[in-house]
Amino acid sequence: MNEPLQKQLKCPICKKPSERDKTKNPFLPFCSDRCRTIDLGKWLDGKYVIEGDESIQDPEL
Ligand SMILES: [Zn+2]
Repeated sequence: MNEPLQKQLKCPICKKPSERDKTKNPFLPFCSDRCRTIDLGKWLDGKYVIEGDESIQDPEL
């Protein structure tokens, strides 16, 4: 039996297969710089309150 592509990496953000060759994809484990930035944004959202930006209303409030 052949194994499936068990080493196929999926981008944790968009769930698309991401290139696992680091020379082609420096953004591992994300598929792109964009997804990496999104992930970073999630982190920052939970950690920081951006001061001076109170005009932006949080829709969850
Ligand atoms: Zn992605």
